[in-house]
Amino acid sequence: MEALHVYDTTLRDGAQQEGLNLSVSDKLAIAGLLDELRVDFIEGGWPGANPKDTEFFERAKHELTLEHATLAAFGSTRRAGSSAAEDQLVQALLEAGTSVVCLVAKSHVRHVEEALRTTLEENLEMIRDTVSHLVAQGRRVFLDAEHFFDGWHLDRDYALRVVRTAHEAGAEVVVLCDTNGGMLPHQVEQVVTDVIASTGARVGAHCHNDTGCAAANSVAAVRAGATHVQGTVNGYGERTGNADLLTVAANLQFKLGLDALEPDAFRQAMPIAHAISEVTNVPAYSRQPYVGASAFAHKAGLHASALKVDPDLYQHMDPSLVGNGMRTLVSDMAGRASIELKAREAGLDVASRPEVVASVLAEVKALELQGWTFDAADASVELMLRRTLEPGCTDYFEVESWRVITEASGSGEAISEATVKLHADGRRTVATGEGNGPVNALDHALRQAIAVAYPEIEKLELIDFKVRILDASHGSDAVTRVLIETSDGETSWNTIGVAANIIEASWRALVDGLVHGLIRQGVPIR
Ligand SMILES: [Zn+2]
Repeated sequence: MEALHVYDTTLRDGAQQEGLNLSVSDKLAIAGLLDELRVDFIEGGWPGANPKDTEFFERAKHELTLEHATLAAFGSTRRAGSSAAEDQLVQALLEAGTSVVCLVAKSHVRHVEEALRTTLEENLEMIRDTVSHLVAQGRRVFLDAEHFFDGWHLDRDYALRVVRTAHEAGAEVVVLCDTNGGMLPHQVEQVVTDVIASTGARVGAHCHNDTGCAAANSVAAVRAGATHVQGTVNGYGERTGNADLLTVAANLQFKLGLDALEPDAFRQAMPIAHAISEVTNVPAYSRQPYVGASAFAHKAGLHASALKVDPDLYQHMDPSLVGNGMRTLVSDMAGRASIELKAREAGLDVASRPEVVASVLAEVKALELQGWTFDAADASVELMLRRTLEPGCTDYFEVESWRVITEASGSGEAISEATVKLHADGRRTVATGEGNGPVNALDHALRQAIAVAYPEIEKLELIDFKVRILDASHGSDAVTRVLIETSDGETSWNTIGVAANIIEASWRALVDGLVHGLIRQGVPIR
């Protein structure tokens, strides 16, 4: 059996996602991360059709050094009624200078006649001519057969002729695409089995997630004999997205025992998936299989006590194999065992201090009654543990006061300005900051004030901010809960603040986020 191809199309098909915009520099950064993940192929884009992609391939020649992955250029078969040798877009594919070209072609009779507006015979000729021209120019050619599964159901003979034509013209892999994403695993299995038996071509799969089955369909294709899978990191893509490449690769590797990615690279999967979401600026999905922050998180107190004995009882695999870790959610359901585990995750020794565990647990339970939630705010729990273990150990600075005003001119654009006064390292600092909103302004002012004594703060960045208004209960007023995610460029952590006033709640979460960042860097109190 041929070695399995793991083919990433984040930079081309993934970039079709609504709201996702990648600059050329972003694309180069993502390509570097994909190479660290040791995927086999990175599809960079469509040179000639899109100026940004043309520039990407130009810059990649000088700026991108790939250690493992092979860069692929994507394009379509030549226009009807011309020749591949004279087609400008085919020429642009050659100029991109990649050793691999992935060509998209029609394989569905109605798409040929109604969308491409040409004859079925001419479409086959376009495939034959373009594949053989590129092969003659020394390229490895993969052919993406668009709308293949729907086309096979409508006219199986024609769909198979497309595969045979590409295969005989020299295409190394014919990739069957579920372009509309409407298939289910048993259908994929049936079609892939038929194509391999009828044509002898090497087959790949490109699945979209419209039925929620993109990963399952990719696995079904491999079980039926496909040896090439396409997908995107974090499942980016238009509509409901493409097959999530890491979910697919992990299923193939850990559940079917195939070699998808190198084990050492797989151990970086979670940080790399998160680093890519930093570049795309699409927040990471916490419930993502394998690499989501919640993928190995446990909530119930009952589970937590058993987890302490044997983690394997409650998880389907060792999370470290994909760079993730077991995490225990601290909530009012959790007992002492959750707090002890949380302490262990933070490297704190509470074994000999049962009173600390009891005190933090009581504090967590009391705060949760007021609307706090620690499920998503590990860093706040860790700070609570540290303060209880060693009072004063988180007192990097003492806040004298803070205030924020928001001002709008008649035309309406509002600007916020914050002032923070604090004492640190024996000095009093007054700092002001501006922002497009009050929290943004406070963040700037607070950071500047802290930086006087702790320049290490510069590394930290507020990356996400979530507000939730909690319903009034027990006759009290509604309260606001703010969750803040702070990053040091490599990892991130979440802190929480709750108050009747949204800005006060934000302030508490901000302060905890920055203090936690200083602790993580091992900065001493000055
Ligand atoms: Zn696609």
